[in-house]
Amino acid sequence: MKKAFLTVTVISAVFTLVACAKKDSEYAAKMRQKNAGAQVGQTATNHKDGVPKNEKKIATNLCEKPKETVCAVQEAPIAETIRKEGREKALTQLKKEFPQLSAEFKGTSEEFQAGKLYKEELRFLHLSDAAYRMIYNYDKDIQETKALVQKLYAEHIQASTLSDEEKKRQISVINSTDVMSISQIIETTYPGKNAMTILATSNCEGDGLGLRAHSSLLPGASAGVILICPGQFLKLAGKDKDDRITSLVMLLAHEMYHQLQFQARVDVQDAEASKCLRNSMPEHDNKYFETREREAMADMTAGRILMAHLKAVTDLKTKQDRISLAMNWLCHIPDAHEGDSATHFTNEERIKNLLKIKEAAVLTCGEGPRC
Ligand SMILES: [Zn+2]
Repeated sequence: MKKAFLTVTVISAVFTLVACAKKDSEYAAKMRQKNAGAQVGQTATNHKDGVPKNEKKIATNLCEKPKETVCAVQEAPIAETIRKEGREKALTQLKKEFPQLSAEFKGTSEEFQAGKLYKEELRFLHLSDAAYRMIYNYDKDIQETKALVQKLYAEHIQASTLSDEEKKRQISVINSTDVMSISQIIETTYPGKNAMTILATSNCEGDGLGLRAHSSLLPGASAGVILICPGQFLKLAGKDKDDRITSLVMLLAHEMYHQLQFQARVDVQDAEASKCLRNSMPEHDNKYFETREREAMADMTAGRILMAHLKAVTDLKTKQDRISLAMNWLCHIPDAHEGDSATHFTNEERIKNLLKIKEAAVLTCGEGPRC
């Protein structure tokens, strides 16, 4: 690698499609007629404890209203309780350890930055993460999802037309990539630790409730590393294990793909899919697309991995619900409005683009494109 230090924010990419919106609507209307009543009034997920009692029911369909459907997924009430109680507990402890912090100190990023309190902010992140994990130990989910995504990637790569040597190389990149927890980042010794701790506080903030993720090659390290902020995991607290794992598959697969971009130059091999996606977004010029292509490709492959994960789900409505769940993280990361980000499409574009991959044809959302 020429670059000793690479990092890409997870706020990844997807694209828009105006041309097939009409067809999608026609399909959705037919589906609604066909299933008269059955779907009306349901939220995108059937998860009973994820829907607050006073939640206004939204009738949506993934084909017709991708963003609304994906973003209608609710978290369980316990998630907010863990965030609030964990943060309070950590802040109390932080003030004990650093008595110079005033009673009014709230632990916001602005406060840490204004006071140049780097050591305190890192300690707050450490304490917050530990407090959250006392109630929901997401480390197990991370490791399980990592093993699953590595397995799915290995199958995906094996099924490709790459040479045996290249297949071996890519699988090795995926299998050597680690997902580091906050405690691992802070407590252990490894090459590039300084850079990693800065990434952790800048992305996850002192209380760990930031919602970003990062894929990096740290200075001096021989393998890739992925950081997912505790805030992303806490959204899943109180859900079934299957739902929690499914919620993390696409996010992690997206970050893993960045490692292939860093270490195996995979984009060159995706020229056809890239062109197809580009053609499906006539509203954007080439320049707009080019700077976002890396993220778009990461999303596209992550979508293929997700569809492989959900292969056994045959019921269409269930499949749409599972996909909505898996894409919900795209509703909670900072949005890249046009002109605002040179590397990512908007979250809505990213959600819509998943429906364009050829593996999503089973959802029968209109007639294409199939990239
Ligand atoms: Zn990304």
